[in-house]
Amino acid sequence: MLRFAPSPTGDMHIGNLRVAIFNYIVAKQKQERFLVRIEDTDIERNIDGKDKEILEILKKFDIEYDELLYQSKNITFHQNFAYKLLQDKKAFACFCTKEELEKEREKAKKTKIAYRYSGKCEEITIEEASKKAEPFVVRIKKPQKRIEFNDILKGKMAFEPNEVDSFVILRADERPTYNFACSIDDMLHDVSLIIRGEDHLSNTPKQIHIRELLGYTKDIDYCHLPIILNEEGKKMSKRDKASSVKWLLEEGFLPQAIANYLILLGNKTPKEIFTMQEAIDWFDLKNLSKNSAKFDLDKLRFINRAHIKILDDKILAKLLGYDDENIGKLAKIYIEEASTLKELKPKIEKIFSKKEIPSEYEKEVEVLKKLIKDYSNIKKFDEFKKMLMQESGLKGKKFFKPLRLLLTGQEHGPEISLLYPILRKFINEVVR
Ligand code: GLU
Repeated sequence: MLRFAPSPTGDMHIGNLRVAIFNYIVAKQKQERFLVRIEDTDIERNIDGKDKEILEILKKFDIEYDELLYQSKNITFHQNFAYKLLQDKKAFACFCTKEELEKEREKAKKTKIAYRYSGKCEEITIEEASKKAEPFVVRIKKPQKRIEFNDILKGKMAFEPNEVDSFVILRADERPTYNFACSIDDMLHDVSLIIRGEDHLSNTPKQIHIRELLGYTKDIDYCHLPIILNEEGKKMSKRDKASSVKWLLEEGFLPQAIANYLILLGNKTPKEIFTMQEAIDWFDLKNLSKNSAKFDLDKLRFINRAHIKILDDKILAKLLGYDDENIGKLAKIYIEEASTLKELKPKIEKIFSKKEIPSEYEKEVEVLKKLIKDYSNIKKFDEFKKMLMQESGLKGKKFFKPLRLLLTGQEHGPEISLLYPILRKFINEVVR
């Protein structure tokens, strides 16, 4: 089983989407099941509706899953496993107050030594704990030996017991911490490979330690992906608008193009433009670069144009708000000067709205208006142009500028000879 485990705590980040895509592709390749687990146990950070938004995004990207789980459904399991560890003396009740811990943290900071739990409550037995009428958290005991695992990209990783530390698994209100819930759920759902961002690297030994103490012997494979950097080379944060999948979609980037770009980023691929389905044939985590890749909006724009070009005309028309496949064809003619749906839309809208004509061309426009309609049954642009020139007596700029304005509502744009064969079909809506 593979899994994608987003937290419903904000707009979906492109880094998360990349994780979802990779997990989906690898699940398909291995013919294993794919679980989407909404990690909603951190109630203070949850934002209402973000879970639905994540699922809608997955749908838009055609990322299908076999199972959907809200982590909060498993809380009883998390609690029972924590109590089992407590009973087995592999975890202990910790009564240290926030203030005490804060003091220790401050001290560590001053002496520039990494903070570790003091071990103060480690010897408190369950019997003693149950007699105290004070709130407590459950801490797992730190490992006795190094925790080692193999990362598909980073190779062999090793963490000393002190780095793992005796950490909290159950809060005072009996809610599990992220590492605990995550580790238990991966075990319960028989996860075989975890692909996630490298910001989780230090969590991995903790999660392995939890399962080892519970006697779970199956090895889970790991692949921690390098983070995505912004154009300045810093970690792409919420402040970078392009980090939000929702923003990219609103800007008119196609899901196919975003997916293509995210698979291409820091990767060796047999070609540049492809679909996610095609990538299932050749995608290999081992080809990913170990270094962080820089997000490049211009490259995404290029890929978006390529995907618009290969999109079915009728579908493109629909995305732009029209029903006729000819509008899709028309939009593609504008692709060199518009890279997104949001940029294409006004180009098409201007063609079909009432034209604003600068006063210097008013006279010519009046003459051409009627002639265009009369001769638009001519299929070939050259013939049409010849007839119009002949009948109007106009030529050069005095002919082409008003003709372009009448047909497109814009002073500049693609060759009229390319636009005309389509526009003539809508001539009464175009020339008004
Ligand atoms: N919920 C975590 C996050 O959104 C991911 C956990 C994981 O993949 O293990 O960052």
